[in-house]
Amino acid sequence: QLLVRGYLSDMGAHVRVAQRSINEMEDIAAFCETEPHIGDLPGAMSLAVPRGRVVFDDVTFGYSGAAGPLFESLSLEIQPGEKIGLVGASGAGKSTFVKLLQRLYNLDGGRILIDGEDIAGVTQASLRQAIGLVPQDPALFHRSIAENISYGRPGALEAEIEQAAAWAHADLFVARLPKLYQTLVGERGVKLSGGERQRVAIARAILAATPILILDEATSSLDSLSEALIRDAIDHLSEGRTTIVVAHRLSTVQRLDRILVFDAGRIIEDGPHKELVRKPGGVYRRLFETQSGGGFTASSQDKPGILG
Ligand code: ADP
Ligand code: MG
Repeated sequence: QLLVRGYLSDMGAHVRVAQRSINEMEDIAAFCETEPHIGDLPGAMSLAVPRGRVVFDDVTFGYSGAAGPLFESLSLEIQPGEKIGLVGASGAGKSTFVKLLQRLYNLDGGRILIDGEDIAGVTQASLRQAIGLVPQDPALFHRSIAENISYGRPGALEAEIEQAAAWAHADLFVARLPKLYQTLVGERGVKLSGGERQRVAIARAILAATPILILDEATSSLDSLSEALIRDAIDHLSEGRTTIVVAHRLSTVQRLDRILVFDAGRIIEDGPHKELVRKPGGVYRRLFETQSGGGFTASSQDKPGILG
């Protein structure tokens, strides 16, 4: 929905929206999520060029219909440029945390601030421009690779698109496509693997250069090359930005500044890898010991694990 609205307003600016074919509208619809629509408050202001400091201040939130709140008086500060990993069992609240930051839902209590501004009072458009998103399993438009990447910055030059692709390590597979950057991908185009699509989404986010970035690491088994390339691409992408990675692999979180361990809507551990692995009786430490160096994903499917 966020992407759709961004897409439409970008296109609207170019007065080309009327020319979209039915097929293209279907592609846009493929981006729709089932999130409720949250509108701007009367008098909403644009979020001024943010630096990327994120504060959850006494946040209480529950899904309607749930027995009780998921988050109760959750408070947390993330500094500009900090790279944060979210870990925890499936259902612990990681996705909800990043959804609230994008204001996909209104809070039941408390505030979420970006650089001191309550996000409830800013325009959704300016919030979207501040927060980039690399989904777990990105869908691509039925368009060229170049258009899929420059979606993050309409009007980007070819050289900029190719540079972003190179940083995202998307250039490697693009070199093998029949029409290189002009190759059509998506529903009725060339099918890309999950790892390749995530690298296109990373290139898009590099180009969009938002001060805050949310990345949902793929849970599906990527081949080890894809995994290493994506890890390296995340390093490039997160350079100088506040980055929140919903992480599924130990190898990814280890290199971030700070790890938040979620459990049933609470943050039960918060610190850098080096600190958390030393914490006697710690949940993260136990996880690390049982999975020395491996990915979380396989074992979290085998038995109830800490990472979902
Ligand atoms: P995680 O990403 O850590 O797996 P989620 O944030 O997706 O956890 O889910 C946290 C809790 O909220 C779970 O109990 C889940 O079932 C519930 N939940 C998630 N999304 C919704 C929704 N759209 N409506 C109602 N409950 C939801
Ligand atoms: Mg999730």
